[in-house]
Amino acid sequence: MDDFVQRAPSAPQLPATPFRFVAYFIARFRWWYVGMLVLETINSTCGILIPYATGQIIKAVTRAHEQSLSLVAHLSGPLWLFIALAIGEVVFSRAGGACQIYVGPRQRQAVTRAMYAYLQHHSHRFLSNDFAGSLAHKISETAMGYSQTIWTLIFDFYPMVIVFGVAIYMLDRAHRGLAEFVAIWAVCFVAASFWLATRTRPFAVAASAARSETTGRVVDAVTNLTSTRLFARLDYEREYLDAQLDKELRAVMKSNTYSERVRWFQYSAAAVLKIGVLYYALLLWGRGEISVAEFVVAVTTTLLIINEARNLSRRFLEFFEYLGNIANGVHTIVRPHEIVDVPGAVRTTIERGRIEFREVSFAYAPEQPIFQHLSVTIPAGQRVGLVGFSGSGKSTFVSLILRLYDPQAGRILIDGQDIGTMTQDSLHSQLSLIPQDPNLFHRSLLENIRYGRLEATDEEVVDAARKAHAHEFITKIQGQYASPVGERGVKLSGGQRQRIAIARVVVKNAPILILDEATSSLDSITEQAIQDTLNDVMQDKTVIVVAHRLSTIAHLDRILVFDQGRIVEDGTHEELLAQRGAYYQLWSRQAGGFVLDDGGADEPAKEEEQVDPAATPEEVVGNDRRRVQRRIY
Ligand code: ATP
Ligand code: MG
Repeated sequence: MDDFVQRAPSAPQLPATPFRFVAYFIARFRWWYVGMLVLETINSTCGILIPYATGQIIKAVTRAHEQSLSLVAHLSGPLWLFIALAIGEVVFSRAGGACQIYVGPRQRQAVTRAMYAYLQHHSHRFLSNDFAGSLAHKISETAMGYSQTIWTLIFDFYPMVIVFGVAIYMLDRAHRGLAEFVAIWAVCFVAASFWLATRTRPFAVAASAARSETTGRVVDAVTNLTSTRLFARLDYEREYLDAQLDKELRAVMKSNTYSERVRWFQYSAAAVLKIGVLYYALLLWGRGEISVAEFVVAVTTTLLIINEARNLSRRFLEFFEYLGNIANGVHTIVRPHEIVDVPGAVRTTIERGRIEFREVSFAYAPEQPIFQHLSVTIPAGQRVGLVGFSGSGKSTFVSLILRLYDPQAGRILIDGQDIGTMTQDSLHSQLSLIPQDPNLFHRSLLENIRYGRLEATDEEVVDAARKAHAHEFITKIQGQYASPVGERGVKLSGGQRQRIAIARVVVKNAPILILDEATSSLDSITEQAIQDTLNDVMQDKTVIVVAHRLSTIAHLDRILVFDQGRIVEDGTHEELLAQRGAYYQLWSRQAGGFVLDDGGADEPAKEEEQVDPAATPEEVVGNDRRRVQRRIY
């Protein structure tokens, strides 16, 4: 199978399996890792040779004592060895540490950068299926997981192999039997630790899932705290949380009990090694098979081995967790990109802005088709209103033009060119969308507006804000244009956010403009004021306006009425009224029963507020405004 999945040409080539993913990044930093392994080899060898140096010192002391020789002359060699090893341990372990400090953040960033660059090219569908927070969390978990995996390999597992190897070699020089005893112990210990770690893992995973479930519930509860208070459900929420805490407690206790059993195993195994080596070494010494010095070497080496092998099960367990985090991130994010630029996609400049749907069929899910063989042409420079019941496919129509989704059949052409053959960048840089509920970046107002065109001067930004009727409220905020808007723009009202989104589009000045319920959060008076600006902005552009409030679109060049994915009526306001069809009904109902902007269309109209169904848009808006006045006073 191919390592690499279908991906956007400009996305990084990331392998789609966790092990290859790790290997890919190891290759990028390989020389650093080789350097660290060398340093770690020397460091661990120094450490494990210290008992040997101690043995040499004891040997020298004994010999000097027995032969009444000068202690200094005999001792200097082993002493220097001891000192050199002690210093070597410090120098090489810290040199490894220095590399770790340097490489650590860089490798983490390399993973984050690559994952984010890959994620950027995922489709709208992909991004709407997952919470943004959870995707961001997965990227950081993967990056951390990678870093921890590498450190565990280099600084935990590898030194253990060195220590075991050198120790067994040193013991072998003293006595074959001792070496065999320790070697067998080491193999059994590692195998048992590994096995126990795999047995413990399900409990650990369950405990950690229960913990994050608790966190999730607390976050949800805190987010909705105001609702909780307004429904007087404080007690209920506490009990709700208690139920989850009980569940978590059970899972955590199970996991902890199992871990405790593993610890019993580890301590017992350490005791077996200590007592076994002591007993065996004493026996050998008694038989005269090893010297005192060798006896000391055997015992101290054993202590070092135990020190190194401590918590091996837990380290295996953590290692599995890191690998699990990487696997999770890779499986979620390194998926095929759904919408990619075709090979040889061109950067097109949209000159005129003629939009054509040619036999377009589209469904979000196969069993639920939205459009079937839809064909419609919007000539360059035309301003078109889309109306129809909720769910009739207006936003979907717009999403297809924006190429947030690819149609299953048919083509969408702009100025005669299939949008599928343009680069997405060039398509998107020439389309402007003002959505119903625009999200803003948690940056300053200035930056948010300038997002439309990064080169725009401050004056241009202010000018655009004026046009969008945002300048008035911005200048009243403390900090004015420099003030941050809060996460997703929470510090602004819905209507203010929309005005910022409009200003952003004014700055962008693209040849095709799409408004999807763009002024729905505005009161009628502000909307009317902005409408004048929008009319200016719409000059010489192809414009598509989706609106439920018909007065917003009645004055446009053409109106398309959608019904269950079909265009059932097509014409100007006057023509459609004359047809006395769906549009006429919507219009009469709204014009008559339209009570301000609070969805009053469902309420029966009062006699005195009846509006002539054939009234001009201006009359209706004027009427609307009068009602606002009536409500206020
Ligand atoms: P509204 O006036 O309420 O905005 P709309 O005319 O814009 O409605 P669309 O959003 O285009 O309607 O939805 C058309 C149909 O497609 C609806 O039945 C809707 O449930 C479905 N739909 C919309 N978005 C998705 C999606 N992301 N995944 C699956 N189905 C969707
Ligand atoms: Mg919609």
